Amino acid sequence: MPTNCLFCRIAANEQPATRLYEDDDVIAIRDIAPRAPTHILLIPRRHIASALDLTDAEGPLLGRLFAVAADLARSEGIADDGYRLASNVGRWGGQTVDHLHIHLMGGRAFEWPPG
Ligand code: AMP
Ligand code: ZN
Repeated sequence: MPTNCLFCRIAANEQPATRLYEDDDVIAIRDIAPRAPTHILLIPRRHIASALDLTDAEGPLLGRLFAVAADLARSEGIADDGYRLASNVGRWGGQTVDHLHIHLMGGRAFEWPPG
């Protein structure tokens, strides 16, 4: 594990976060600077830098991330109105933490395409 990776540290309980869900493969935390009434991050425990590093081998892990997102959307009460899932990749994609994560955002309407 990269010792300086924020999300590796959160996954290892070395850095505080508001955890909503965790299992052997995935954790879900509240974003520290929410951009929507509900803003949750789905994070694989294993360090993967971004979606650029995904292969077919991560298929089950991605399924898990999306399934946990759907469960949390239901429990947060945002499933019926709809929500946004996004994973930023690299500098121009807006990625600021270099550990793969999916934003789950809801509670308001979103523009398309994003700015
Ligand atoms: P991105 O910019 O797509 O890489 O997303 C990184 C997200 O992590 C941003 O929305 C940040 O607000 C969020 N973030 C940064 N530090 C923390 C932290 N300590 N706990 C929870 N979320 C964080
Ligand atoms: Zn990491």
